[in-house]
Amino acid sequence: MANAVLITKDDDTQAVAIADISPADLPEGEVLVRVDYSTINYKDALALTGASPVVRSFPMVPGIDLAGTVEESSDDRWQVGDRVVLNGWGVGEGHWGGLAQIARLKADWLVRLPDAFDARQAMIIGTAGYTASLCVDALLNHGLTPEAGEVLVTGASGGVGSIATALLAKAGFTVVASTGKTSESAYLETLGAAEVIDRATLSEAGKPMQRERFAGVVDAVGGNTLANACAQTRYRGAVAACGLAESPKFPATVMPFILRGVTLYGIDSVMAPHAPRAAAWERLARDMDLTLLESVATDIALSEVPGVGADVLAGKIKGRLVVDVNR
Ligand code: NDP
Repeated sequence: MANAVLITKDDDTQAVAIADISPADLPEGEVLVRVDYSTINYKDALALTGASPVVRSFPMVPGIDLAGTVEESSDDRWQVGDRVVLNGWGVGEGHWGGLAQIARLKADWLVRLPDAFDARQAMIIGTAGYTASLCVDALLNHGLTPEAGEVLVTGASGGVGSIATALLAKAGFTVVASTGKTSESAYLETLGAAEVIDRATLSEAGKPMQRERFAGVVDAVGGNTLANACAQTRYRGAVAACGLAESPKFPATVMPFILRGVTLYGIDSVMAPHAPRAAAWERLARDMDLTLLESVATDIALSEVPGVGADVLAGKIKGRLVVDVNR
């Protein structure tokens, strides 16, 4: 038997508890993985609280990320003992996920864990860090260089924002970090932020075109903040939008796009094909300072998972929650 977080639903009432599961309970897949670590992303918090209908069938083991070791495989690409990482693909939403000691997964979904990381480090990164890396890749593939000017990161103290700040600073960019937790300025500066601004300066409705400031933006929050960020993006600059922590709405005009040639990139991590996934993990393995990585991590046990969702949704968590599923 193995321990797992299990979400059940009776009528309209959702419950979350630690349960015993066996390999026979797991969904179909070619690879059985012994999970070492998982993590709590914003989407996991939505699943745990039921605040948004991300779970598509019940009972469900949540956890959109896991890192572990292959225990059984019927696919030639994966051998017993291989170290693997999984992000997304609907795992933890429609297929039992990583907040458990075991998981059965499709061979296509797995990525080889880079040698630079152990399983815990891979989960400090998790989908949040891998998405941050996809956002940075979008800005660099757009042709942005540090000489183009300042880059804005919103939701900077969160998982995506913390790792985007660190990766952009490592790539030589001058990072302006927008946060609701200005008390965490020192933390954001340690990650590489050159300036920390209060998110209230971006969250009110603003004019369609504002003073050009940012060459690029990584936006984890959406809403007025994304609209204002676009309105402040410089001529031919780029915005990578990946999140909705403020709002799924985008109350903007087309003016920045048609008058300043601003490009808005949508970033999806869940169904991203293997090539950009592997590239994003390569960037993380190459550029992520392991000491900084440690500074964004808070470790929790599997038994603590059912209680953490509300704090994550309230934006109270700094950096990344890492889950030791064997504790
Ligand atoms: P976190 O909860 O770690 O961080 C979100 C941060 O957003 C908070 O720490 C806070 O940062 C800020 N925030 C919270 N509430 C508000 C608010 N009301 N208004 C403005 N800012 C707010 O989440 P993640 O970093 O894991 O994820 C960030 C977003 O990205 C989420 O919306 C998530 O769903 C999305 N996402 C999308 C992915 C994709 O594939 N597109 C993949 C991964 C995540 P601060 O206090 O510093 O302002």
